[in-house]
Amino acid sequence: MNPYDYVKKEPYQLYIDGVFVVPEDKVTFDIQNPVKNQIFAKAYKAGKPEVTRAVKAARKAFDEGPWGKMPPRERSKLLLKAGQILEQRKEEFSCIETLECGKSYAGARYFEAEMSVDAFEYYAGKARCLEGKAVPIDNNTVNLVQWYPHGVVGEILPWNGPLMMGCQKICAILAAGNTAIVKPSSWASLSMLLLAEVFDEAGFPSGVVNVLTGSGSVIGDMLVKSPDVDMVAMTGGTSTGKHIIEASKDTVKDVALELGGKSPNIIFDDVDIDDAVKWARWAFTQNSGQVCVSGTRLIVQRSIYEQFIEKLQSECEKLIPGDGFDPKTTLTSLIHRDHAQSVWEYIEKGKAEGARLVCGGEPYTDQKLTAGNFVPPTLFADVTPDMTIFKEEIFGPVLCITPFDSEAEAIALANSTEYGLAGGVFTKNMKRGLRVAQKIHSGQIYVNSYFSKAMIESPGTGWKQSGLGVAGIQKYMISKTIFIDTQEGSLPM
Ligand code: NAP
Repeated sequence: MNPYDYVKKEPYQLYIDGVFVVPEDKVTFDIQNPVKNQIFAKAYKAGKPEVTRAVKAARKAFDEGPWGKMPPRERSKLLLKAGQILEQRKEEFSCIETLECGKSYAGARYFEAEMSVDAFEYYAGKARCLEGKAVPIDNNTVNLVQWYPHGVVGEILPWNGPLMMGCQKICAILAAGNTAIVKPSSWASLSMLLLAEVFDEAGFPSGVVNVLTGSGSVIGDMLVKSPDVDMVAMTGGTSTGKHIIEASKDTVKDVALELGGKSPNIIFDDVDIDDAVKWARWAFTQNSGQVCVSGTRLIVQRSIYEQFIEKLQSECEKLIPGDGFDPKTTLTSLIHRDHAQSVWEYIEKGKAEGARLVCGGEPYTDQKLTAGNFVPPTLFADVTPDMTIFKEEIFGPVLCITPFDSEAEAIALANSTEYGLAGGVFTKNMKRGLRVAQKIHSGQIYVNSYFSKAMIESPGTGWKQSGLGVAGIQKYMISKTIFIDTQEGSLPM
């Protein structure tokens, strides 16, 4: 089937209080395919009235509607039903995700769509296993620690993995018993609007899930500031996260943030070099480097430094840029021209600040590629911690390579940024692998591989400026401790 056959001709509508709606002012925005920079659909932009309606609906569904009273078993059944509906529509979702985000169809279909269905199954199970604890204090006293849903959660999403991340987060929100107002990125809105159809068909009560597309500074800001929204979670850039912290201060709302990264990938000289080179290449070019945990700072032991760079260059030069639907493509487009422009500015800074350009670093000339937002894999060697490209997240296929002599120096280099999201260590010495992994100040570390296969079972948290709060279902719950004294007349006086 042609992927465009899945695209609706009319603008995609917002989903509020169990109904697909057109906003009062009927304003739309363009949905673009980044491979050709062609507009292929339109979606409605929520304005303030729609945000107000969605907050009211989510509030009512939690406070008065059936959702707030529904036993976890029933929530679980609804999640399973929705997962089954999504399972039937995996092909459609994968095509839309590939069209809108420019990513690899194979990755969207056989990893992200599968993981999205898995999120429904996993959190349906989680909803059945919610538990607290009883803490015995003395013979007469016990403390009961219980976990509650926050209430209304505003979930603000990024564009780099909207379907999978959206499913994982919304399912956790619902399994915990909250209601949700979902705000996808303006550059990747369709999968969440389609997902609203899934929740609708599965029979979730009105107002439990609401999806608002449009501007982050309007919708996101209202969600953050509304006293009727109990919690806001945002996955996105660190500067947006800081803005949300600032904007949430008047309501002292619970805020959870999953933010940017500049993850180190340390290579010791005892590795199988060919194998480690392939991992290092994958770690920074997967989804064209638009992965929060990408290994974008390669820290290589000096004894193999030049040899490693040479082999890595050769691996990078094998990559074939193109449309994510083409099975030959191994390097996909960046999401948007503006984002590609920001990546080019970093490349120019790298050159200007004296990093050694090994390969890439110049735009493609082929017209097929210049129509899209392609950036060739770019290697900078001899990058030092004072350089902008070492410190700041670029979010494109740009790798900074730095040599080290001692284990202590490798760790110091790994830890010398403001971020603490992820990292990798490659060595055959497992004692050293674990020792170094424990010393890197990040929420997730891969040893002798890169990227997690099981994020949902063991989600990583962002350390330092990479995040705020815990991950998984606990993120969407709040604790209460009830102190119980069973003794009569036990006043301590
Ligand atoms: P972004 O520009 O920060 O946007 C994230 C979301 O925030 C979007 O939905 C955006 O809406 C919204 N937003 C913008 N301004 C806002 C405001 N004033 N108040 C509330 N919300 C606002 O991030 P992005 O470019 O979409 O995503 C890339 C970033 O996400 C990278 O830094 C990446 O590392 C990070 N990320 C982190 C993780 C993780 O797990 N730690 C996972 C994935 C991505 P608009 O689109 O309408 O502007």
